[in-house]
Amino acid sequence: MLMTPRAQTRMLALGFAGLVLVLAYLLHLGYQTSLARASDDADNLAQTVDGQMSATMRRMDATLHQIAARTPAAALQTSAVPRHRQTMADILMPYKAQFPELRDIFVWDGEGNILYGTRLPQDLQRSGSIAQRPDFQHLKSHPEATIAFSELVRGHVSGQLTVATYVPVRDAQGRMIGVIAGSLNLGYFEQILRTLRLSPGSVAFARSSVDHKLVIRYPWIESEFNKPVRNPIQARIDAGEIAGQAAFRAVTDGEHRLYGFRKIDQYPFYVVIGISAADALQNWYRGATYVVAFILVLALLLGVTLRRMAHIETQREAAMAEADQALQLLSEGINSLSAGITIYDPEDRVVMCNEAHLRLFKSLRDVIHPGKSFEEILRTGLQRGLYAEALGQEEAWLARRLRQHRVADGTQYELELADGRWLQFSEHRTPRGYIIGSRIDITERKKLEVDLREQASTDALTGLPNRRHFLHRLEDELGRVRRRTTSEACVLMLDLDHFKRINDQYGHAAGDSVLRHFSNILRHELRAIDIAGRMGGEEFAIILPGSGPQAAQGFAQRICDKLAEHPLSFGRQEVGMTVSIGIAAIVPDDLSADAVLSRADRALYQAKDAGRNRVQLADKSS
Ligand code: GH3
Ligand code: MG
Ligand code: MG
Repeated sequence: MLMTPRAQTRMLALGFAGLVLVLAYLLHLGYQTSLARASDDADNLAQTVDGQMSATMRRMDATLHQIAARTPAAALQTSAVPRHRQTMADILMPYKAQFPELRDIFVWDGEGNILYGTRLPQDLQRSGSIAQRPDFQHLKSHPEATIAFSELVRGHVSGQLTVATYVPVRDAQGRMIGVIAGSLNLGYFEQILRTLRLSPGSVAFARSSVDHKLVIRYPWIESEFNKPVRNPIQARIDAGEIAGQAAFRAVTDGEHRLYGFRKIDQYPFYVVIGISAADALQNWYRGATYVVAFILVLALLLGVTLRRMAHIETQREAAMAEADQALQLLSEGINSLSAGITIYDPEDRVVMCNEAHLRLFKSLRDVIHPGKSFEEILRTGLQRGLYAEALGQEEAWLARRLRQHRVADGTQYELELADGRWLQFSEHRTPRGYIIGSRIDITERKKLEVDLREQASTDALTGLPNRRHFLHRLEDELGRVRRRTTSEACVLMLDLDHFKRINDQYGHAAGDSVLRHFSNILRHELRAIDIAGRMGGEEFAIILPGSGPQAAQGFAQRICDKLAEHPLSFGRQEVGMTVSIGIAAIVPDDLSADAVLSRADRALYQAKDAGRNRVQLADKSS
């Protein structure tokens, strides 16, 4: 299928727009997939961290409760410390040794004073009372409470940040007589978060599910500790959700992240993993950059191509307009020619023909048009009896005409049409195999030629063949006699008697009239096959084919008689005259027309000498 340049441009632009749309859709899909994967990753990591943290919490819970169960009530008094120090050390130290996540284990009395610990006694001395801590107060005033957690605090003993877990020791009445406290080694948890190998913009942290204060964070930001926060996760934890995914811009650092969060079992903490959207989209950004660059390059190429196409199109249109104009001019020029012009393509079909050609072949107007083959047109012309010389030998004529047409060497031919017109045509083959034919009407010229030929052979005054023409005819007749295709023939020489006197007496015009009058008498007496000619002045000659001397003599005598019977009436006068006639038979031995003529001439002069107005037969020998 051939497309217009405009359609090509539209197709290219549409194709490009389609490609951009598809790429944009793929980019969008990639964007969504990257974010969804990051969100799933955050969720999975949160689940992993939750697993590790909740295991530690449960173990710590169990450990502290075991210690509480094994601690004798008697040991929970300040005064009893020296007595029970060894016993308590024997209980506490193995637990501490088996539990690296626990930094220290302490035993407090019911009033919040330190009694025992996994530290040296002098370190313990430095510790103040925990009586005022809200979690301690909570355990004391709630007999059903079995565990409590502090907020992030700086350890009384270690001086380091820690979260303390408290398990009460109660007497039979449920009164709290002591507290077993374990301080979590936050460094251990930080280690867990560190091994997640989060991307630079990502975070992992744990918060209290009670007040949402920050417990631990990786990367570590000192200033954020113990600070509560308001965000979608906090609201969902408050609403009772224990796991989920979220996406929002963090209040603390303004980073957009995809979050996964998990509540840590029954403990008042939840862990959150936030994966930086920017980090998650890093590969996508790189890909998108390539795609955008690709589109830009493509757009540039397309722009250049379209501009080039537009330029070419403009040039093409201009060239076509120019060609159109040239063609217009050419066809106007060809149409203005008086010659009929037809152009045939190499397959011999009409490409164009001008008005003059159609005027020449009016009766073929319905078949001469572009696409028609020369032969088809010619055959139609033959069917319509257009060509005079083809009549009765159509096929042979057609073959000859087609041969001339194919040779197309510029030779000029003449062609007679059945309506009497004559055309002159020539055909010329161009280097590219086209044939240019031209035809002109030469009817007028032909007529002139016929007239001229007639004039050249006719005597103007009498209308009889002139001397030259007569001699030709005599040669012909002599030829026939010599070939013996005719048995005999005679030549008569005729000369009016005393013609000079007529001129002198009546004038030259009268003489002319006498010459015409005599010619008419001759014409009247001649048979169709006889030929008379004016040999000059008042001298005439006649060929009588097929007549012997006897018959010729009779004929000559009849001329003399007719002339005597029919004098010329000139004005009121009658101009009578006589003629002398010499006769010679044409014989096969005659070498030329002149020989015959001079024989007749001699006979004529014998007639003159014998007194005129008579007929003299030439001797055979003379
Ligand atoms: P003869 O009986 O001996 O033939 O005498 P003639 O007078 O006929 O012969 P001659 O040769 O003496 O004269 C011929 C004349 O014919 C001379 C010339 O003026 C005249 N003549 C020749 N041609 C023409 C012509 O075309 N028209 C006229 N009116 N006279 C012509
Ligand atoms: Mg004469
Ligand atoms: Mg004469």
